Amino acid sequence: MTMRESYLLLLCDYGRRLITDRLTTGTGGNLSIYDRGRNLIAITPSGKAYEQLTPDEISIISPKGKHIDGQSPSSEWPLHTAVYLERPDINAIVHTHSRFATTFAILRQPIPACHYLIAVSGSSQVRVAPYATFGSDELAQQTVASLEKDNCILMANHGLLAVGTDIHKTYNIALYIEEVAELYYYARAIGTPALLTGKEMDAAHERFKTYGSKSSSGIDL
Ligand SMILES: [Zn+2]
Repeated sequence: MTMRESYLLLLCDYGRRLITDRLTTGTGGNLSIYDRGRNLIAITPSGKAYEQLTPDEISIISPKGKHIDGQSPSSEWPLHTAVYLERPDINAIVHTHSRFATTFAILRQPIPACHYLIAVSGSSQVRVAPYATFGSDELAQQTVASLEKDNCILMANHGLLAVGTDIHKTYNIALYIEEVAELYYYARAIGTPALLTGKEMDAAHERFKTYGSKSSSGIDL
């Protein structure tokens, strides 16, 4: 049983968007889609430039990490399989080293409720998971444990992990959190940011629930 062609094309398209949206450079970051019906994971391959990526090069692995087709999977495959195992609600993962989110990951400081768009995280802040070597099981386990039920988390001295029900929503979470991180960085640089209260964030979360059902991305505010 093979992976749906549409999923392979989507990973190529969103891989290229990582570059054009400046969420990564070179071969950094990785993306995956889990087809739960076929029980197969499509993940971007290791060390391949996104600009030249073709659907037949996308790596297909089992949920236990067995290589089935395409090129060798991203070295971060244990992180992807660990998320899919722990979170039955998740079918797509976007991992980036985007500049502003990673700046806060290096400071090991969460991104607080400085803008209502932080609500796409599923929480009122983006927390920081502990550091471990890239590609390690330790990193996978620690990051999944820290993620809990949220849609994204900073990985200390590494980058950002976004998870969602489909690749479109998940990519937008990574994009919006990078935007919020950039705004928070600039606000901190010239003053003391005012943060939204718990009540204000509750209202934002409520609005997202309503808007989410009307749009394909769920978060196109
Ligand atoms: Zn990484």
